[in-house]
Amino acid sequence: MNIGIVGLGLIGGSLGLDLRALGHRVLGVSRKSQTCDRARERGVVDAASTSPTLLQTADVVFICTPLGVMEATVRELIPHLSATTILTDVGSVKGWVVQTIEPLWANFVGGHPMAGNTESGIEAAQYSLFVGAPYVLTPTAATPSASVQVVEELVRPLQTKIYHCTPEDHDRAVAWISHLPVMISASLMQACLSEADPAVLTLAKALASSGFRDTSRVGGGNPELGMMMAQYNQTALLRSLASYRSHLDQIITLIEQDNWSGLKQRLAHNQQTRPEFLQ
Ligand code: NAP
Repeated sequence: MNIGIVGLGLIGGSLGLDLRALGHRVLGVSRKSQTCDRARERGVVDAASTSPTLLQTADVVFICTPLGVMEATVRELIPHLSATTILTDVGSVKGWVVQTIEPLWANFVGGHPMAGNTESGIEAAQYSLFVGAPYVLTPTAATPSASVQVVEELVRPLQTKIYHCTPEDHDRAVAWISHLPVMISASLMQACLSEADPAVLTLAKALASSGFRDTSRVGGGNPELGMMMAQYNQTALLRSLASYRSHLDQIITLIEQDNWSGLKQRLAHNQQTRPEFLQ
């Protein structure tokens, strides 16, 4: 199949590597000509260009740019696509993306591969990034079911676990397990940095070990990605943050009241239920 990828960064580049390895012809479009050159050198694409005219023969096009430029990217792309081309995207937010892109191109399937790391750009592209990861598809009543099937058959061989849900349910679920953790982790870093005694702060930095590495990781990643999660999933994220604040307040109250059994009960419940999120 002829596959187009727009935005040759971590996600777009990694998709290119795997889809080529599976025998597809991959055509890449990116903003910078150096990125196109590196994508060819690294074997991410068969051909690359800064111009969307390259995608005239694409059967399926993955939009892999940052969320903030997706609408402009699709508008620029549309005049160059064949009428039968299936568009899909990899954005971390689905409600806003689907509402924006679906009216522009009816043959559109919202998607979100739930894999990544703290790196970005073409050099971060890697093989097998999506192995074992959920790949969420968010068709609406208007999405052609044959196109959903085509996208599903393309991404299933990457050894992903396919899920279908509405864009709204996707955004509420990822607010809990992806976007809220980024904001909590970012606040943790800010709180630590607010330590007023420089000697204590230096000591804390020296003593930080695996626990701090785990809890600060998602808040110390790509700032643009974190900002866009908040900007484009604002409602669901604020709802999760409000609930988190309430639970933090409850923990503060338990500690203030020396309610050690109450605190232990909560922590025991967490210990019991955490594996349900990490199957
Ligand atoms: P990335 O590594 O920064 O790659 C995005 C690429 O898009 C860049 O390499 C850049 O190519 C191109 N681009 C940037 N700004 C552009 C602009 N203004 N116009 C046109 N092209 C532009 O980002 P990513 O992590 O792959 O994220 C891409 C998408 O995947 C986002 O929508 C994000 O929500 C989604 N996603 C990310 C993750 C994650 O963990 N990172 C996971 C799942 C989904 P040039 O070098 O040519 O400028």
